Amino acid sequence: MKIICIGRNYAEHAKELNNDVPTEPVFFLKPETALLPKNNPFVYPSFSKNVQHEVEIVIKINRLGKHIEEKYAHKYYNEIGIGVDFTARDIQQECKEKGLPWEKAKAFDGSAPTSKFVNINLFEDLNNLNFSIQVNRENRQQGNTKDMLFNFNQIVAYVSKFFTLKIGDLIFTGTPAGVGPVQINDKVECFIENKKLLSFNVK
Ligand code: MG
Repeated sequence: MKIICIGRNYAEHAKELNNDVPTEPVFFLKPETALLPKNNPFVYPSFSKNVQHEVEIVIKINRLGKHIEEKYAHKYYNEIGIGVDFTARDIQQECKEKGLPWEKAKAFDGSAPTSKFVNINLFEDLNNLNFSIQVNRENRQQGNTKDMLFNFNQIVAYVSKFFTLKIGDLIFTGTPAGVGPVQINDKVECFIENKKLLSFNVK
């Protein structure tokens, strides 16, 4: 399986990192080893001094597809979850300055903790979903999918122009403004609406 992550999909977040607001989706990949096994802590990587959380809605592909038209894209997923696109911001900044790829900063082991997945029928409107992250019970970052520059169907259609989507592939759909650092011993909890779907510690 593969993990596809959309970058700069919320205008306010693009601005907070001094990036232009994109005119088409920006994406990158994480390997399967970026998933965090259930009940494991997130191990703070020794190569970074500034690991930041990016809370994101994650969609799970349930059908094989390529060149999917936007009007059919909704048939390719029926479950969503929540995840954290952990980013070594200091390393990412170095990579950006040198014009190098971001994988060291984005795709390291455990950099994609992901919740269990729940049926989309539980939610009234996927384009109006509140989601958030708490660190040590303090609200750190919250967003609503209505602020996405590209919605789930547009993302599925766009990504499938380049990659065959396979059953079990995950798509992180972008983070709202409010990214910030985590520290060793933090407790991280993520919510869609008021449902807590993901919880882990930083070690
Ligand atoms: Mg992200």
